[in-house]
Amino acid sequence: MSKQHLVAVVGAGPAGIYATRKLTEAGHRVVLINRDIKPGGLAEYGIFVDKEKMKTGLRKQFKRILADPRAFYLGHVTVGLNQPLSLKDLQAMGFGAVVVTAGAQGTKKLGIEGEDSIGVYHAKDVVYHYNSLPPFSERHFEIGRRVAIIGMGNVMVDIANWLLNLKKIDQVVVVARRGPLEKAYDDSEFEYIDMYLDNADMKQEIDRIGAQLTAVGQDVGAITQKMVRQGEPLEGRRLTFRYLCSPTKVIANEQGRVAALEAEENEMILQDGKTVAKGTGRTRRIEVDCVIYAIGDQVDASLGLPFSRGAFVTNPEKLPGDPNPAAYQPYDPETKKALDGIFVAGWSRNASVGLVGVAKQDAERGMKVVNAYLATKEGGSAGEMEAKIEALMEMLKKKGASVVTKADVELLEGAEQEAAKARKTWDFKYTSDEKMLEVIAARRAGQ
Ligand SMILES: Cc1cc2nc3c(=O)[nH]c(=O)nc-3n(C[C@H](O)[C@H](O)[C@H](O)COP(=O)(O)OP(=O)(O)OC[C@H]3O[C@@H](n4cnc5c(N)ncnc54)[C@H](O)[C@@H]3O)c2cc1C
Repeated sequence: MSKQHLVAVVGAGPAGIYATRKLTEAGHRVVLINRDIKPGGLAEYGIFVDKEKMKTGLRKQFKRILADPRAFYLGHVTVGLNQPLSLKDLQAMGFGAVVVTAGAQGTKKLGIEGEDSIGVYHAKDVVYHYNSLPPFSERHFEIGRRVAIIGMGNVMVDIANWLLNLKKIDQVVVVARRGPLEKAYDDSEFEYIDMYLDNADMKQEIDRIGAQLTAVGQDVGAITQKMVRQGEPLEGRRLTFRYLCSPTKVIANEQGRVAALEAEENEMILQDGKTVAKGTGRTRRIEVDCVIYAIGDQVDASLGLPFSRGAFVTNPEKLPGDPNPAAYQPYDPETKKALDGIFVAGWSRNASVGLVGVAKQDAERGMKVVNAYLATKEGGSAGEMEAKIEALMEMLKKKGASVVTKADVELLEGAEQEAAKARKTWDFKYTSDEKMLEVIAARRAGQ
């Protein structure tokens, strides 16, 4: 009995690519289906634009993994309900398993009044925009001069980095529910923007909330020492913080554009040893002309898996073994059954959690579960697997999809590298799907 299977992996970000490696290492063949033309996910289109060493290092690793002849890449194909290809189609085509590593493509809202105003954006859309991912790369963003970023994690730092260093706007105001110690960004990341910190404003802000910090046992002197430095913000561009503030309303002007943000002032209380924000009922107005939500993302419900509160529902049953296999299996709460043969990993399993290393580890753990599952099933011959891949290609062709293969990605990357060299930069990306497909077609034709 053959133990080799054909597996569909949906999403070629870090999780999907490292999953592919684990599956091919176990002797299986993988069809890696990706929405974007190029592989890499947020490693390509999320990690900050100037992190050359990290981006080129990951690109090389991904290229090596995808070079395995057992890995078959299909770019520019979105899987989901109302798409040319659904998870059900993949199952019906006889894939041994379907692994969903499509990241967290849904956006979270705060649900406050005015959040549909012009100039309110989600961090991921902005990040995709400045990292040149179509169609976000071509979209116009009304950024303005004073931007509120809601949230205090590393994504906030990346956006502030783009706004202050590259867009050269006047002011970024970071709005956070709790205080300075509850930051979620890394100090090493903060170094990209700390030259813009308005130290006088930070001192005033800590003085303003000092009593609240003391009330939960925090040392105001130590916080001031850590946060407040000497000197003026570089080139007058200011980075300020409004702590203990929860946005309640986006105030728009007559043209429907952001004119200010209203926020409720919070106090902090201790609950089970943790600080929790509690509204005071008092509000304040923060003068900004753009608001960016950097509050994390949720998975994309249109993939068609059971979905609840921003996440795919996974099997609650604790099964024995390491890793817990149930955590990687979507689960239908209505039938109370795990979905047979479907698995989730990376940010599709745990939205917006962790760096590339965490997505990699999650995919590798998950593929232990998938490999164990496949070992219990009868596989197929190389010929049968090739026939299935051909049938899939045929089906996509019939539906009019312009599928991009591994060889096409290499042609595109070759063209982009030449363009980068000509421009004397380390990186160059075509910013529309049409242009990328045109370049691929031209290279295929030997032009
Ligand atoms: C702004 C930002 C900055 C970051 N900076 C760093 C950093 O500096 N260092 C670091 O280590 N980590 C960084 N990270 C974290 C890192 O990018 C993630 O940990 C990692 O990319 C998650 O991997 P993933 O494969 O689960 O998801 P993703 O990277 O999101 O990949 C998902 C893939 O699925 C595809 N896809 C989506 N929907 C579908 C669909 N319906 N059908 C088919 N394909 C689909 C997408 O095209 C994409 O290729 C950053 C993240 C963000 C948001």
